[in-house]
Amino acid sequence: MSSSPDPVFLHDAPGPGWFGPWGGRFAPETLVANLEELEAAWHDFRSDPAAREEWDAVLRDFAGRPTPLFPARRLGAELGVELWLKREDLLHTGAHKLNNALGQALIARRMGKTRILAETGAGQHGVATATACALLGLECVVYMGAVDAARQAPNVERMELLGARIELVEDGQTTLKDAVNAALRAWVGDPEAHYLLGSALGPHPFPTIVAGLQEVIGREARAQVLDQAGALPDLAVACVGGGSNAIGLFRGFLDDPVELVGVEAGGTGTSPGLHAARFSGEGGAPGVLHGCHTRVLQDAAGQVLPTHSISAGLDYPAVGPEHAELARTGRARYVAAGDDEALDAFLRLTRTEGILPALESSHALAWVLRERTAGRLADGLRIVVNLSGRGDKDLHTVLARLRRGEEES
Ligand SMILES: *Cc1c(COP(=O)(O)O)cnc(C)c1O
Repeated sequence: MSSSPDPVFLHDAPGPGWFGPWGGRFAPETLVANLEELEAAWHDFRSDPAAREEWDAVLRDFAGRPTPLFPARRLGAELGVELWLKREDLLHTGAHKLNNALGQALIARRMGKTRILAETGAGQHGVATATACALLGLECVVYMGAVDAARQAPNVERMELLGARIELVEDGQTTLKDAVNAALRAWVGDPEAHYLLGSALGPHPFPTIVAGLQEVIGREARAQVLDQAGALPDLAVACVGGGSNAIGLFRGFLDDPVELVGVEAGGTGTSPGLHAARFSGEGGAPGVLHGCHTRVLQDAAGQVLPTHSISAGLDYPAVGPEHAELARTGRARYVAAGDDEALDAFLRLTRTEGILPALESSHALAWVLRERTAGRLADGLRIVVNLSGRGDKDLHTVLARLRRGEEES
């Protein structure tokens, strides 16, 4: 990580890839050619109606779009609000990540690339990418920290069954951050490859591409809530890891009088190392990580801090630059929910609606539960929560926590 550039200067000199003072392309010269080629391919993809049609067909027939907007009536009645769930958990492979993986894989194929490189932490993005590569007949190499690979053995097996090769990363803490670095390094020397980044972050044009591919969530949700509820929501709420599912939802409502709330991982406390709350936790400050200027959890010397969350998908020290700007301008609000609150929300939704949410998505729901219980959300508010993924992958974590709770009590 390099030290933070002067945000005022950057704000005076914005260009493509800047969100106010955030974003940019802090990449070595050797990477810039790849990024420029990708930027051109993105514009080409966006403006070609045939590409658009192919993308829509894949989303519909392979991935299962549109995903439903579900009225959670029992939980809504318990809370005294009108609660709507955007069901990304029903997307093929069980989370929103496939929208991005399929879109970028299609772009890569148009570019004539034969090989896809990807990073993965818990394995969810690796599985989505391996799935897209199997569909499109592309070679797939997934970089994964050795520690993560040991923790997420079932996802490693799933990726291998789908035909992907796993490259274990032994550098640093051997987790997600190190896997991103390894994948970026590999991309530099490989003109046949596209690097398929998993969230709305990294050097330009990745934040723009990933948000553009996830926008479908917000576009659908807006049309569905108007159709089914007859009005816009008061609030749209999503969990924020790197920020892709949240920006996908938010972009549907940016020009509407809808309050946008991003929920980060509050972990087990606000002290450094106990959370992944870049906005509301201790240690969040402007900095550069993985090629973009954004809010990064760091110590006084600018070293990236370790993070913690019960949900692997939220456990990342930086955040997408567009969120940093939505926070700076006040258009969106960023808050945190902790491990225990997320676990409670997981159980509550499971029992009242018969839906097991991902622990990531449970954070968004946990904030609604907490604020409503504390009387900080008015009666009868219409709330859309993005249910970014399904919770089957988290059963092991949830059951282990419950067993430990029983032993302690
Ligand atoms: C990866 C993941 C997230 C976090 O990623 P974002 O880029 O912030 O969306 C959230 N929910 C689920 C289900 C995930 O798999």
